[in-house]
Parts: sequence; C-alpha cells; structure tokens
Amino acid sequence: MSFNIAIDGPAGAGKSTIARAVAGKMGLIYVDTGSLYRAMALFMVREGIDLQDTGAVIRKCQEADITIRYEGGVQMVFLNGENVSGYLRTEEVGHAASFVSVIPRVREKLVELQKRLAAESDCVMDGRDIGTCVLPHADRKIYLTASSAVRARRRYDELTAKGESCDLEKIQADIEERDYRDMHREASPLRQAEDAVLVDTSDMTVEEVIDRILLICNTKAQGRNRKGL
Ligand code: C5P
Repeated sequence: MSFNIAIDGPAGAGKSTIARAVAGKMGLIYVDTGSLYRAMALFMVREGIDLQDTGAVIRKCQEADITIRYEGGVQMVFLNGENVSGYLRTEEVGHAASFVSVIPRVREKLVELQKRLAAESDCVMDGRDIGTCVLPHADRKIYLTASSAVRARRRYDELTAKGESCDLEKIQADIEERDYRDMHREASPLRQAEDAVLVDTSDMTVEEVIDRILLICNTKAQGRNRKGL
C-alpha cells in the first residue's frame, strides 16, 4: 500500500509550492493534478473547441492521451506524446481548465489516471477534490486556503517579477470567479473533506506553511484538529 498525502484548496493558495517542497522533504513524488486539467484545456484550445459546448468537449476528450513522467524528479506532462509542460501555466490555460474541469466525463478520465498514480507511488497529490473524491482514504488530508485578496496579491507579485504587466483587480476577480466555478460545479466541487486539516496561509510565510504541513504529516492525531493546528 502506498502512502498518500492529499492537499486541496482554491486557486492561488500556494498548493503547488507547498506540495512540491513537502514531497521533496519527505522523499515522495509530487503529483500536480491541476496540470492534467490544464493539459486537457490546452488540447481543446488548440483544437478550436468551444469550451461552453459540453458535447463537443466530451467527444474531443477521447482523443487526448494525457500522461505524466518524471525527469530529474520534476513532473512533465505529455499530451498525445508531446511534452506540453511549458505551455500549461498561463492565465489563459488556467481559465480554460476551470471550464473543462466542470465536465464529469473529463473528470472521470483524469481521476482514473490520478488514482493509478497514487496506487503505484508514495506521493503528495494536490488539486481540488483529492481528499474528497480521488483519494478518500489518503493517509493525510490538508485543506490549504487564503483570502482572495492575498491570493491575488501573490499572483500579481509572481507575474510582475516575471516582467508581465497585469492588473491586480482583474486577477482577484478572476480568482473569485474560478473559486465560484470550482465550488459550485456538480461533479466533485471544491470543498474541505470532513477529515482534512484546515490551514489558512493568509498571514503565513511559505516556510511556516511547510513546517505546519510537515508537522501535520508526522502527527497521527490528525482528525482532532480540523480548524488548524
Ligand atoms: O491548480 P490549477 O490552477 O493548476 O488548476 C487549474 C484548474 O483545474 C482549476 O481551476 C480547477 O478548475 C481544475 N482542477 C480541478 N480538480 C483538480 C485540479 C484542478 O477541477 N483536482
């Protein structure tokens, strides 16, 4: 039986940074499930599919073969054999991913892959429905969140540091719109699992969050403390 840690939470809560660091410190692999939805979205955008046309997305998604591989410990995502990892982190693809991820058939296909990966390897997996749906029996579950203003500010700083011009208010509006879609969709909406530990990172540094999660992961008495440690 593999050892699995599930980290869920809304866009921009810092899940990937934290999950990657925790996986590295614990010697586990890191599975970024958002990148699978992003790869599916990239496929639809490239194929010119109208993302609002559910039937067209369902038909087309059969043609997308999405897999992951690790190169030097880093997750690479392949779409029909092409390494598309470098194309996935744009705002456009993230926005499109939040549309395709609403569709149950898309989720089924990608959840199957996630379950297989978790069964095969000890891992830290992050996403929106890992603790509630993909790995309901995960050894540890964490729900990572932060206020939308803080999440928008972090994203803004990240983009401006890369030299991209952006608008803070627009980023916050986009984050809130994405939260709404993720939390209100019918198929596996984003929510905190009953047995997940809540960590609000609004006033925490990255190092503090990593230490908190490592503490949670090394503590057996997880269920006692749903409101955070
Ligand atoms: O986490 P990331 O921003 O890369 O995810 C992109 C989109 O994919 C999210 O906005 C969400 O709609 C979707 N997603 C999901 N379930 C997951 C991971 C991501 O629905 N497990």
